[in-house]
Amino acid sequence: MDLQNKDILPREILPVVVIGNGPSGICLSYLLSGYTPYLSPEGTHPNPLLQGKLDQQPHLSLLELDLEYLCEGLEGRSSNPVAVLFDSLLLPDSDFGLDHASPLLWRYEPERATPHLVLGKGPPGGAWHAMEGSMLTLSLANWMELPGLKLKEWMREKRRNVRNDRATPAEIASYYQHYVNQMGLEDSFACGTTVTSIQRVNCEGASGRPFWKVQGTQKREADELGEGSLSEVPFIVCADYVVLATGTHDIPARLGVEGEGLPFVCHSFWELEAAISRGQLDHTSDPVLVVGAGLTAADAVLAAHHLNTPVYHAFRRSVTDPGLIFNQLPKLLYPEYHKVHQMMTQQQQHGQDIPSSGGTGTPVDQQENNTASMSTGSYPGYVSLPKHRVVAFKPDRKCVLEGEDGRRTVLQVSMALVLIGAHPNLSFLPENGRPLGLNPQEPITCRRNPLEVDPYTYELVSEGGLYAMGPLVGENFVRFLKGGALAIASDLAKKQRAKEENRTTLRVS
Ligand SMILES: Cc1cc2nc3c(=O)[nH]c(=O)nc-3n(C[C@H](O)[C@H](O)[C@H](O)COP(=O)(O)OP(=O)(O)OC[C@H]3O[C@@H](n4cnc5c(N)ncnc54)[C@H](O)[C@@H]3O)c2cc1C
Repeated sequence: MDLQNKDILPREILPVVVIGNGPSGICLSYLLSGYTPYLSPEGTHPNPLLQGKLDQQPHLSLLELDLEYLCEGLEGRSSNPVAVLFDSLLLPDSDFGLDHASPLLWRYEPERATPHLVLGKGPPGGAWHAMEGSMLTLSLANWMELPGLKLKEWMREKRRNVRNDRATPAEIASYYQHYVNQMGLEDSFACGTTVTSIQRVNCEGASGRPFWKVQGTQKREADELGEGSLSEVPFIVCADYVVLATGTHDIPARLGVEGEGLPFVCHSFWELEAAISRGQLDHTSDPVLVVGAGLTAADAVLAAHHLNTPVYHAFRRSVTDPGLIFNQLPKLLYPEYHKVHQMMTQQQQHGQDIPSSGGTGTPVDQQENNTASMSTGSYPGYVSLPKHRVVAFKPDRKCVLEGEDGRRTVLQVSMALVLIGAHPNLSFLPENGRPLGLNPQEPITCRRNPLEVDPYTYELVSEGGLYAMGPLVGENFVRFLKGGALAIASDLAKKQRAKEENRTTLRVS
C-alpha cells in the first residue's frame, strides 16, 4: 500500500497502527480483520479443566472471554500465560508430538474488524526473509503456522509430488507472504516503510482525545529518476493505539572486547555466506571461530562444517546448561540443531588439551597443535570450547580466549564470527525504549530485559495505549508470539465495547 495515495486524511486517527510486519504483525492483523475464534460445537480439548471453562459460555468468542480465568492452571514452555493458552488451543498437546485437532472454529465477522495499518521495512514475513540464505531446513512443524492456513497443506500444495517433509526459511517467509494475500489482509499492509519516531500527542486533534503520531519514510519508485530507482518519501499516520512488533534482529550484539572492529571479525551470518560465495573458505583454510551458542551460531557451524572448513566453536555456557536453546528444542523437530548440540558435547576441548598462551609454545605451535587435535572424534574439523570467553582479537588474525579456570588460549583463524544475538532497534522511541523495559537502566533485549507488559493485555505497564508483542516481550518463537496477538486483540475489543456502552449510556441519559 502506498501511504501517499492512501485514503488517510491528515487529521484522521486510525484505531490501530502496528509497527513490524513479521509473524507477530501478521497474526495480529488477522485477528483485527474480523477473523474470530469460537469453541467449535464438536470441539474438545484434551485438558478437561480448560474444556469445562470453555463450555460455560460457548456462544461467546475467545475475544470476549476472560483470558486470565482461562489461563489459570495451565502450564507450558512459555512464561507468558496467554501464549500458553492460545498455543494449547491452536495445537493441543503438541509438546507430546500429538496432532490433536484444535477445538477452535474461526468465523469471519467483518463487522468486528478494527481498522488498522501494519508498517514494515520489507515484505510481510519479517526476520524470515533475512534468514533466507540460511543452511537450516526446518521440520514441517505446525509451530510456525498462523491460524487458519495449515503450513503442511500449503507446502504440499506448493510442491506437488515432492515427498519431503522439510522446509527452508525462504519457504516459511513465502508462506507468511501468501498468508497475507490469502486472508485478504494486504490492504492493511504498507511495506517498505520505516518508522522513525512515535510520539504521544495529548490535547490536539478534532476529537480532542490523545493519540499517537507515527512518523517515518516509505520507499517508492521515483518515476522521474527512471525505472527501478527508489526514493524515500516521508509519511505521518495518527492512531489511538500503537503496537510494537518490530522483533529483535536488527542490531547484532557485540562482545565489547579489544580488536572487535578488525576486518576479519564479523557479526552476521551473511558475512560468512559472502566469504563462502567468494570462495574464501574451504578445507585448506585456517579455522573459522564461531562465538555463541544460539540458532544463528549453530547455522554458521553447520555452514562451515559443510564446506569441511575447520571450526572452533566458543561459548560461555556449559553444554548441559538448561538455558542453552538446544536443551529447549525437541530433537525430532530440529535434527540439525540437535546435531550441533551433539558436536558441542562430543568434541569438547578442555583447557588442558589446548596449549595456553602462558605455555612454552609460540602461537604458531599452538595453532598446529590445535589443528592436529581437530582431526579426531566423530566430527573431525570441529572443536567445541564450552565456558570460554573471548578476551581479544589481534590484527594478525589471532583470537585470545579464556576458559573458566582463567587459562588463556590463542587461536589462529581465517575469520571470527561473533553471533551472540541481536538487540532490537527501538531508536524511534525516546531513549531507545529503555524506560519501558523491566529494568529501565538497561538496554532492551529479548532475553534479559524485555519490554514490561501486562501479562493478559500486552499493554505496556508504563505507557498506556502502547502495546508490544513477540521477541520484544521475550517471546522468541512463532509458536508462542500468537498469544500476544490474542491478548492485544481481546483488550482492544474490550476497549471498543466499553466505548460503545459509554456512548449508549450518554444517549439514554
Ligand atoms: C537463525 C534463526 C532461526 C530461527 N528459527 C526459528 C524457528 O525454528 N522457529 C521459530 O518459531 N522461530 C525461530 N526464530 C525466531 C523467529 O525469527 C521469531 O520468532 C519471529 O520471526 C519473530 O516475529 P516478529 O514478527 O515478532 O519479528 P520479526 O520476524 O523480527 O519481524 C519484525 C519486522 O519489523 C520490521 N521493523 C523493525 N523495525 C522497524 C521500523 N522502525 N519500522 C518498520 N518496520 C520495522 C523488521 O524489519 C521486521 O521485518 C529464528 C530466528 C533466527 C535468527
